[in-house]
Amino acid sequence: MSGFLADTTKYVNKALKLTDLSDGLANKIITCNSTYTVRFGVRLRGEIFTFEGWRSVHSEHMEPTKGGIRFDLDTHAEEVEALAALMSYKCAIINVPYGGSKGGLKIDPTQWKRAELEKITRRFAQELIKRDLISPSMNVPAPDIGTSSREMAWIADEYRKMHPADINGAACVTGKPPSKNGLVGREEATGRGVQYIVREFFKNPELLKLVKLDDNLSTKTFILQGLGNVGYNLSKFLTEDDDLKLIGISEFNGGIFNEDGINVEHAKKYFSKHKTFEGYPKATFIKDSSLLLKRQCDILIPAARENVITEKNAEDISTKLIVEAANGPVSYKGNQVLNRKKIFVIPDILANAGGVAVSYFEWVKNIRHIRFGRLEKRRNQLQINNLIEAIEVMTGKSMPKKYKTNFMDGIEEIDLIRSGLDDMMIDGFQCVKKEFLETEKIPDFRTAAFKVAIDKIALSYDFIGL
Ligand code: NAD
Repeated sequence: MSGFLADTTKYVNKALKLTDLSDGLANKIITCNSTYTVRFGVRLRGEIFTFEGWRSVHSEHMEPTKGGIRFDLDTHAEEVEALAALMSYKCAIINVPYGGSKGGLKIDPTQWKRAELEKITRRFAQELIKRDLISPSMNVPAPDIGTSSREMAWIADEYRKMHPADINGAACVTGKPPSKNGLVGREEATGRGVQYIVREFFKNPELLKLVKLDDNLSTKTFILQGLGNVGYNLSKFLTEDDDLKLIGISEFNGGIFNEDGINVEHAKKYFSKHKTFEGYPKATFIKDSSLLLKRQCDILIPAARENVITEKNAEDISTKLIVEAANGPVSYKGNQVLNRKKIFVIPDILANAGGVAVSYFEWVKNIRHIRFGRLEKRRNQLQINNLIEAIEVMTGKSMPKKYKTNFMDGIEEIDLIRSGLDDMMIDGFQCVKKEFLETEKIPDFRTAAFKVAIDKIALSYDFIGL
């Protein structure tokens, strides 16, 4: 068993010791139900290339199962199994009615042209679709490392071709472009969810006391690892909405540091254009980006990949709070060191659950075949207009323009999505916090999160008579 999968199992076992589940049920919860390996050939550049991929289903206590597909040269079966397991626990914590799944294709997407990548993605999708490993009712993928709404649109289209009579076909995958049955707000969702979790943490005096931080977000600094979909969005929200100061960004080929703050939009533009931060004019370039993780800051946010904080560097980490936007960024032994150093960790299965929350909304929308807020929007506006008119007649004064405009603008779909996401993230956070503060012998927030998830999954198995 590889490091990531072994570590995930150790985290779960640690939480299981605090439950009274039978050994049999505990073992059922930990065990990955199935992992399908596929190898397929694609004719490209005048020759045949064979690709290898996986789709793992960790738990079917609820269906469909759900989890992203990553395109990454380093991916392998055990990594995919670990990620599928994290999906089961994540969905349970925020009450999304799915089991956990995950997929991976061993490929470096940057080495292929768009048309080639489309051909490869469609072939991979065909292999998974014909085994119900992509299906609106059985297994619903989403974007992850190396994939985006573009790949999801290709997958949905492939499903439509293979199942033209399935009226719910669009729900076979989430994270699609809004113009292709996707949902506004899905692309930003994981980052947005992390923002809501950070905000919630800073509203809790009991937790702030543990990390010796006050509740003023605008005086806090953070360092980010990975300026991809999740990292870019969350940095934008934390700096623009909450006034946090982004002082460092670590990328795979170098990083930047500026204690006066980094403009994330500017940095992203530069990195997208040059594919490196080298030569970035507004911060100091640091060739060995792993050094950035050790710099002093209030919050460290790994948003790249797993196993980046281990027993080798955890001793040198000098932040007070780590928010795991990536999946599995802290190894089991690394976590032990952080615990000893009293560095508080908000775990992945809570912090980055926003992606699957909004994926759930997208899936629901696809099955309902109508956008959120469609039926009630005009009716609500009419009611609000009547209310404003009544207030103005009764008081003899006209309502100040700024309030009037706010009221009359009405509620857009994105407002509903963010409101739902906020609610789910806060609910999840509060459940974990309660477990952490009230359960005896809970050593850390991660174990509390796993325990919350395990209890819910166990209950679900109980209902189906296992
Ligand atoms: P992405 O491919 O868009 O971004 C990853 C970024 O990390 C890239 O910019 C990449 O260059 C950088 N990176 C890779 N290796 C690095 C290293 N060693 N050091 C520094 N930077 C490095 O992927 P993403 O979708 O943003 O996913 C990032 C993490 O968040 C993954 O762990 C993923 O599983 C997790 N996640 C993603 C979603 C989602 O909705 N996309 C949801 C939940 C969790």
